[in-house]
Amino acid sequence: MTKYESNVLVSCIGVDNKQHICLPDSDICKCGVKIRRKKLLKNDHKLFSCYECTF
Ligand SMILES: [Zn+2]
Repeated sequence: MTKYESNVLVSCIGVDNKQHICLPDSDICKCGVKIRRKKLLKNDHKLFSCYECTF
């Protein structure tokens, strides 16, 4: 499962407005939530992180 090694995963914001991680070319987060955007804005670090994606 090398494709899920942390060095290839990027931060993204899901449709639930939480921080997730995903593959750079994917439309869906590691946990299965749809991605709203992959660019993190200035205030996005204040958003909650997805538990499943973080641990
Ligand atoms: Zn997630």
